[in-house]
Amino acid sequence: MGAQQALRPVWAEIDRQALAANLSAAIRRAGPGRRVIASVKANAYGHGLIEVSRTLVEAGAAALWTGNIPEAIALRRAGIAGPIITFGGYLPEVMASLVAHDLIPTVYDWDGAKAAAAASRGGPVPVYLKIDSGLGRLGVPLAKARDFVTAVARLPGLRIDGIYTHLPFGDAAGQAWAETRARDFAGLLAQLRTDGIEPEITQLWGSSGLLAGSPDGCNAVCVGHLLYGLSPIHPAPAEASEYQPVLSAIRGRLIAIGDRPGPANGGPPSGYAIAGGRTTGVVPFGLGDGMRRSVAGAPMHALLRGRRVPILGISLEHVVLDLDGIEAPRLGEAVTFLGQSEGEAVTLADWAAWHACRELEVVMALSGRIAMEHGVS
Ligand SMILES: *Cc1c(COP(=O)(O)O)cnc(C)c1O
Repeated sequence: MGAQQALRPVWAEIDRQALAANLSAAIRRAGPGRRVIASVKANAYGHGLIEVSRTLVEAGAAALWTGNIPEAIALRRAGIAGPIITFGGYLPEVMASLVAHDLIPTVYDWDGAKAAAAASRGGPVPVYLKIDSGLGRLGVPLAKARDFVTAVARLPGLRIDGIYTHLPFGDAAGQAWAETRARDFAGLLAQLRTDGIEPEITQLWGSSGLLAGSPDGCNAVCVGHLLYGLSPIHPAPAEASEYQPVLSAIRGRLIAIGDRPGPANGGPPSGYAIAGGRTTGVVPFGLGDGMRRSVAGAPMHALLRGRRVPILGISLEHVVLDLDGIEAPRLGEAVTFLGQSEGEAVTLADWAAWHACRELEVVMALSGRIAMEHGVS
């Protein structure tokens, strides 16, 4: 038990072996012509940035892509080597700091390109250019991309190491849309080749395109969801079963057991009072940790000794469990909120159903207060 866990006994278990195996599965699926870049944005999709990144680099990720600069700098400070590309989402004035930390910026407008060129300290500054093929978030619009890229290529002090776009999808209709847009992006790359611009990395697909086997003329894929065992496509296709959950468990310990015999204590049915007549257990796993009530009143449960224990209430710091039917519960016993317990399991899919959201959203709702144990299961 780590020190943090002793002070507050609730923790998430991150399975590094599953993470490495998922990367290997993605590398196999990408085939020899495509490198696999690992997306570790948003605290490695909530799984713990540093430990996850270290595991992925050791397991053969070609590069790491991050979503924000503080996390990118944290990777360098942790001594993680290899190329780190920042997806963008910052103002031009931070370019100098990015370059100083040996991070590769994404450029998607002229101000950013000029700022990156100005950050040159002798040699050319490597940059990636992002094209918006229709998603409508960051990127140079496809229609203007050829002019933009050729202008950036002429800027002294810069070197275009990569050109990419992002076309995620979640279902068949989205796939049809994305594959049409992908053809337009491939057309841009072909035009740029005739202009003499052939960057080292071209990338268009993430997890969706890789999983669906969408046609690809690029030489890299940038994968997030699949590395963490999550399918971006719903319902998940059969191929998704090759990828195992990396957040393998959330557990906590009973810090209080309440024996509340007798009649219901008369609290208002919509209020906070827990009805009497049962044995309750408390675990420090509350709203502040990202625990949430189920929507539409679908009952939630945890597991104790492989038995289902209903969740009665969730407050800021605590969850209250119904322990009726558990023989002599003991202080300090482990409760499983996610994962396996003596042959029973609570899955991310159960949580996603309780909260009417996607599995990734369940993981991202964890607030980061819970200790993360990065082990090998
Ligand atoms: C997040 C991201 C990815 C990875 O997407 P997944 O669906 O999680 O695999 C790839 N490319 C870009 C540009 C991204 O922002």
